[in-house]
Amino acid sequence: MSDLRIGLGIDLHRLEPGRACVLAGIRIDCERGPAAVSDGDVVLHAAVDAVLGAAGLDDLGTLFSENDPKNRGRDSAEFCARAMEMVRQKGLAVKSMDVVVETELPRLKPHRAAMRARLSELFAVEPDRVNLKGKSGEGLDSIGNKLAIRATVVALLDRA
Ligand code: MG
Repeated sequence: MSDLRIGLGIDLHRLEPGRACVLAGIRIDCERGPAAVSDGDVVLHAAVDAVLGAAGLDDLGTLFSENDPKNRGRDSAEFCARAMEMVRQKGLAVKSMDVVVETELPRLKPHRAAMRARLSELFAVEPDRVNLKGKSGEGLDSIGNKLAIRATVVALLDRA
């Protein structure tokens, strides 16, 4: 019998010149990268929040405080691993995930396949059940002006 649960995660980071740009666990050459206490992987942060939300668990910011020195420069893949441990403890599994990344920089098209593959690994989802699309900011507001990047993720969970 299925026990479907849906979760939504949204995250926005400032884009700063000279910061490493890591998105969905993939390091991308770019003049700007997302600023944060951790590695700034806005896609993984939104994905973790979507998965935790679907499972009825605490959110990313509560589980991994920005004030904890342990989280300084931390690889966000470790947040995914911890979230998945908690999801498994509840007898749940991620069944599908859809990701929208709004950004002017970097262009995501050349990296989409690698990003999807990494998300599939990190969240133990079938590769053809993870999707990711990039949307430009059309030159408007903070995203269009290359000052910010936003990721929105929906995740569907079911009994493992
Ligand atoms: Mg974040």
